[in-house]
Amino acid sequence: MASAQTERRWTRDTARLVGRGVGLAVLSGLSWQVLARGVSFSSPGPILGIMDGANFIFHEAGHVLFSFFGEFLRILGGSLTQVAIPVMCTGYFARQHQAAAAAVTLLWTGESITHVAIYIADARVMGLPLHGGEGVIHDWNYLLGQLNLVNHAESLGRLAFAVGAVAILSALALLAIDLLSRRTRPAGSEGSIDRHVGGRVG
Ligand SMILES: [Zn+2]
Repeated sequence: MASAQTERRWTRDTARLVGRGVGLAVLSGLSWQVLARGVSFSSPGPILGIMDGANFIFHEAGHVLFSFFGEFLRILGGSLTQVAIPVMCTGYFARQHQAAAAAVTLLWTGESITHVAIYIADARVMGLPLHGGEGVIHDWNYLLGQLNLVNHAESLGRLAFAVGAVAILSALALLAIDLLSRRTRPAGSEGSIDRHVGGRVG
């Protein structure tokens, strides 16, 4: 009876480990795509396209959210919000001690920063196809223009990209550490740890 239970627990833990391993492999592939894209605009694959689509929705919502604070903040608000949302998700999961979930949203944070970096790097040349048709403002041409930094657009874009890349690589390292710690943890101990965390007060 006990051995059947142990066996079921072992199978369940192994299935979870394999699932997390596959997840890490998929996210590594996705990260490679993001890092290889750099600040150049190239058509994203299907998964990256979905992430960029989500970034775009939060970006547009940010413009609306910041529209009460003047033109400069309204335009900055788009990029700010598309990065702030995954940052807030990461903070939430970190506070809940959900390491793997926090690492995934940290990876999303990094990807979103690289998405903004492409926009920043394009501020001088303005070659990106923008949503909104003719007459639409190029956010970063306007913002860097106001700050007299348009001529440094490419360098600033690469700097932002480097910050995003560090976040992505840190997220992958966290996921790998989380996976390894689960591999070395005795079977069935996860439940007791979860219960302990769930029972914490304050
Ligand atoms: Zn915008």
